[in-house]
Amino acid sequence: MGVLLVKPVVSVVKCTDVYRSLREALELCGGFEGFRRHDKILIKPNLVTWDFDLPFPPFGVVTTSAVMFALVQILAEEGFRNITIGEASRPVPRTMGQAIYRTLGYEKLRENYGVELVDFNEEEFVPVDFGTFKLSVARRALEADKIVNVPVLKTHNQCKVSLGIKNFKGVLDRKSKMFCHNTETDLNYIFPHIVEKLPVALTIIDGIFTLEKGPGPTGKAHRKDLLIASRDPLACDVVGAAIMGYDASEVPSLKYFAERHGRSLDLADIEVRGEEVAKHSSYVDYDWEWTKDNTGPAGFEKRGITGLAVRKYDNTLCTGCSMLYNPMLVMLMSAFKGEPFPGIEVVTGKQQLAGPGFAKTVLFGQCACKLNKNNPHIRKAIPIPGCPPDLKRFEKAMREEGIACDYNDYVRYRHYIFERYRNREEFDLGLYLK
Ligand code: SF4
Repeated sequence: MGVLLVKPVVSVVKCTDVYRSLREALELCGGFEGFRRHDKILIKPNLVTWDFDLPFPPFGVVTTSAVMFALVQILAEEGFRNITIGEASRPVPRTMGQAIYRTLGYEKLRENYGVELVDFNEEEFVPVDFGTFKLSVARRALEADKIVNVPVLKTHNQCKVSLGIKNFKGVLDRKSKMFCHNTETDLNYIFPHIVEKLPVALTIIDGIFTLEKGPGPTGKAHRKDLLIASRDPLACDVVGAAIMGYDASEVPSLKYFAERHGRSLDLADIEVRGEEVAKHSSYVDYDWEWTKDNTGPAGFEKRGITGLAVRKYDNTLCTGCSMLYNPMLVMLMSAFKGEPFPGIEVVTGKQQLAGPGFAKTVLFGQCACKLNKNNPHIRKAIPIPGCPPDLKRFEKAMREEGIACDYNDYVRYRHYIFERYRNREEFDLGLYLK
């Protein structure tokens, strides 16, 4: 990669019929240029997580099966036979890739098109040297001839947007994913390196939904009905970001990637075919508002919650803990009965140090426990070890301290976030469950 003499092409297509719209998007951007019939093609969706215990609204969180099925059908019609779908979903409490594939009906892709369904977590990872650090990358991804990347059009509370370049965090093993959230180098300057080592031939951003305050199911999905495709990963993300209302120069990972390759982030330097970007661009918020003195979400302040200081998550918090952050807040809220909390601080991640002046300090997760082990400010520690920690254990530990957190309130919340999409025609689970 380097300075481009010819503008990269990105297609933006209104998704009416998924199959036909995807075909159009691929034709407009010359999507299969350079593909050969016998290529080993790896499709990398975003199936970051699923929940088999509690209701899980997949809208804007994971790639729609509708797009995946249409893509496989098109590849088969074009004569490609060697197709694999691969992902390393969050392996907590255990790896669940095959279970996710079954839930989404991907087995039909195996039966009808001979697609191989691979859970990277069950296979080999290879150490790859990125200069200043090493990451373990799925061998399947390294050895593919062509990768077709199918991320979702979503925001991310740590990275602003999570599009194609970010989607390759999902080819790493668990340890390397955690390394991305280290204290030395920010997350946004690690994951953009991964795509550089992979044979990425095509990116298709699934914009059937977009997700506000992503990347998980506690965000709020909106129907968008767009497909964005390009053979150029950066250009595709620049357009995806613009459609969610972000100038790519304000997205740290895209700015970093562009600088590394001497590339422009200006939309004027991209040839957009199909729909006009400006016509579909609208801001989708990425982050939760926090109080100015960093004592908790603005919502806590509005509810009159005092005596509690939940320090805002930072980029050292990895997906395991991030997914529990919102549940932890909901459970703390469940303990609020109008009385102030008794001076509690909550710290998380790998760099938050407990401060002075609190009666009790919750150390949420093994990293916070280790880091604050000998912290002299702590009068009474409430350690919640585990990587990631367990919410039931959190409930128990808090109750032992007289804080009546209720796991069932979190369960009710999960039902609530699922129910808010129910009976709304635009949120069709049939787009996922095939
Ligand atoms: S405890 Fe949380 S932040 Fe620490 S490594 Fe585990 S998941 Fe990541």
